[in-house]
Amino acid sequence: MFIENFKVESPNVKYTETEIQSVYNYETTELVHENRNGTYQWIVKPKTVKYEFKTDIHVPKLGVMLVGWGGNNGSTLTGGVIANREGISWATKDKIQQANYFGSLTQASAIRVGSFQGEEIHAPFKSLLPMVNPDDIVFGGWDISDMNLADAMARARVFDIDLQKQLRPYMESMVPLPGIYDPDFIAANQGERANNVIKGTKREQINQIIKDIKEFKEANKVDRVVVLWTANTERYSNLVVGLNDTMENLFAAVDRNESEISPSTLFAIACVMENVPFINGSPQNTFVPGLIDLAIKNNCLIGGDDFKSGQTKMKSVLVDFLVGAGIKPTSIVSYNHLGNNDGMNLSAPQTFRSKEISKSNVVDDMVNSNAILYAPGEHPDHVVVIKYVPYVGDSKRAMDEYTSEIFMGGKNTIVLHNTCEDSLLAAPIILDLVLLAELSTRIQFKSEAENKFHTFHPVATILSYLTKAPLVPPGTPVVNALSKQRAMLENIMRACVGLAPENNMILEYK
Ligand code: NAD
Repeated sequence: MFIENFKVESPNVKYTETEIQSVYNYETTELVHENRNGTYQWIVKPKTVKYEFKTDIHVPKLGVMLVGWGGNNGSTLTGGVIANREGISWATKDKIQQANYFGSLTQASAIRVGSFQGEEIHAPFKSLLPMVNPDDIVFGGWDISDMNLADAMARARVFDIDLQKQLRPYMESMVPLPGIYDPDFIAANQGERANNVIKGTKREQINQIIKDIKEFKEANKVDRVVVLWTANTERYSNLVVGLNDTMENLFAAVDRNESEISPSTLFAIACVMENVPFINGSPQNTFVPGLIDLAIKNNCLIGGDDFKSGQTKMKSVLVDFLVGAGIKPTSIVSYNHLGNNDGMNLSAPQTFRSKEISKSNVVDDMVNSNAILYAPGEHPDHVVVIKYVPYVGDSKRAMDEYTSEIFMGGKNTIVLHNTCEDSLLAAPIILDLVLLAELSTRIQFKSEAENKFHTFHPVATILSYLTKAPLVPPGTPVVNALSKQRAMLENIMRACVGLAPENNMILEYK
């Protein structure tokens, strides 16, 4: 059975007019490695830590500003939300299609609530905590191309033509603000697009972005803004001591107009200065150490990197399954070809390199978790190839070969062909990122050892389900396995309403 919503009744949970308060017993373990009777032993001690959560239930009017608004992702997301809001349906060659939010964890997935008279009861994921309704989001943003969103949607060649015709009137008047263009950071083949750019020094460019955010907020009467980078993949920035290693050095470098500060880092600096959450949907190292330092000092949410939409999502499921089953992946080879503007930009070696790095580390946590299969330092061969093939447009093809060692020296090979409709996969992920980023800024918590409530760490690991190379605070383990990432998010949200984590034990039926 499926229920639309529910309320938790428990001595540990209180719903006030402004917040949901919960007391939550976090069951964890403490490990000790100690000498007992002359031999070192690992001792595991279960322990319970009491946490208190409080979630502000006032859902703000949310503005979302996309950097790269006129790109395939930006135009697809904007059109998709308008189509949902307006209840648009359109004719395809197969049927009359209704707008939906398929592919969005928050809007289209479910959680198990419990069982009732022998039946499993599920509810929408979004029913866990009060969240912004995507239909109510006001979109805006920047692009180095001045094309309006209706024309950008046509340029993207993602939506069916009947849908495009219906969306056009809503999108014609949406024109991106000028972006920060630096040809050194993206492929030379993007130069033709760049007719809408902010001039001036790096400091002036940051000031302009801050002004844009303020004006957008004022003009649209939104309470809160989230900014998300869905612009071209940039090359990596060099990390240089004295340049971008600390907040002070980064600011000084901006004032010297240093060339090694990328446009995405400039956008991020502006947002963090304004306490506007900033998410990076591309693979480059926007979050140089100086920027992370700034975000921590300003307690401003930053999250990234690189949307986990197609091939990598499969990889973080498949390798988790293989290693979890005691099977040893020894070679993972991933080919991609795509024909959209992202593919054209990635055809330059420097931008490709950013993508390659982001796609490469995704199996590390799973491999490192199993020393029965892998000797220290041993790693499967892992190769990623990306080619630009204009004809396939936004319909990216991902082909993967996974070779593994199985029982008694046997080999198993899995070959996968995955048609990743690029922007149709990415757009709902962008939506989840901005909705969850906004939600997480409304949650505060403290453990029994702390006397003051605080927000989550500004480096938002809570978003890691949605990103290929999750950004984590220094010294924090990176989790790539998809099911663990989802469980982390769901269980934290459950804790906020005083529900136990989903443990799948289903003891009531045993
Ligand atoms: P796109 O090329 O269609 O869109 C990018 C837009 O950014 C373009 O309109 C471009 O003019 C604009 N732009 C470039 N530099 C800019 C700047 N400095 N300021 C403002 N605007 C700028 O690409 P897309 O398919 O929409 O993808 C966007 C990004 O998302 C890419 O970096 C891509 O690698 C990343 N990504 C996409 C997916 C996916 O499945 N679609 C998955 C992971 C990551």
